Amino acid sequence: MFDLYAVIGNPISHSKSPLIHTEFSRQTDQPLQYEAILAPIDGFEVAVNNFRQQGGKGLNVTVPFKLEAYKLSTLLTGRARTAQAVNTLKFDSDQILGDNTDGAGLVRDIVFNLSTAITAKRILLMGAGGAARGVIQPLLEQKPRILAIANRTLPKARELQRQFFSQGNIISGNYLDFAGEHFDIIINATSASLNDELPPLPPDIFSEKSLAYDMMYRNELTHFLQFARQQGVKHLADGIGMLVEQAAESFFLWRGIRPETRNVIEMLKPKA
Ligand code: NDP
Repeated sequence: MFDLYAVIGNPISHSKSPLIHTEFSRQTDQPLQYEAILAPIDGFEVAVNNFRQQGGKGLNVTVPFKLEAYKLSTLLTGRARTAQAVNTLKFDSDQILGDNTDGAGLVRDIVFNLSTAITAKRILLMGAGGAARGVIQPLLEQKPRILAIANRTLPKARELQRQFFSQGNIISGNYLDFAGEHFDIIINATSASLNDELPPLPPDIFSEKSLAYDMMYRNELTHFLQFARQQGVKHLADGIGMLVEQAAESFFLWRGIRPETRNVIEMLKPKA
């Protein structure tokens, strides 16, 4: 009676996706069961095949398997092809459709939930890994004045600039290259916060009106958000909204219904 979905990753015990999709299913009266699958680091494809044999209809894919999910897909949405990474799989007879909903989730969180326009703004994107790659095209579609990519390993940032240069005003550099420049929205798409670290950000890139956005989330402010607050930034956001919005986009791909997100974001926020 219940269609089966899951999130797959390693590690996975921390994932909030089962909670989010169970709430979406309750809210939309869609009969589905949603699990968490811990796949061995070298066992992603086997775990996906086992899940399909059990009748699984779709998967959310998280660290470190987004590239493998991209390679396993037999069909790709345009945004997954551009991102070269897949966070959502949909199984249809013998086809595997791969999508990437991370960028749509981030943009929706910033523009709608945080009421912050991206159009004509100066954006600094920190990091050049899988998460950064997935959000560049959706950010550029909003037509920012400039999108600057800063990364510790410069060639990776340069490569992203090269890949996306025809789609908007995009530049790249080391963190210190941007000293003295102000940005309206500063997005942390590095994994530094996972290790309680802070990329070498020049403090003067913030202004009082900037939005500081960390894709990571935890109960307390991340190092990056603490740093931004010390520089006088008042508008701080973590990645909970992005997480819920990218999940809603996956749910829409699977079920054709867009769930309400605001109450789910509220439910996941740490209680004071
Ligand atoms: P990757 O491993 O692909 O990339 C990591 C990036 O972080 C690289 O650019 C790396 O730089 C940089 N980095 C790591 N440590 C430091 C440091 N100490 N100083 C400066 N830069 C550093 O990770 P992902 O892109 O997949 O994920 C990044 C973050 O985004 C994670 O925290 C993840 O949880 C979060 N995320 C959140 C989502 C949400 O829905 N809220 C969705 C997807 C991701 P270098 O190239 O120099 O190594």
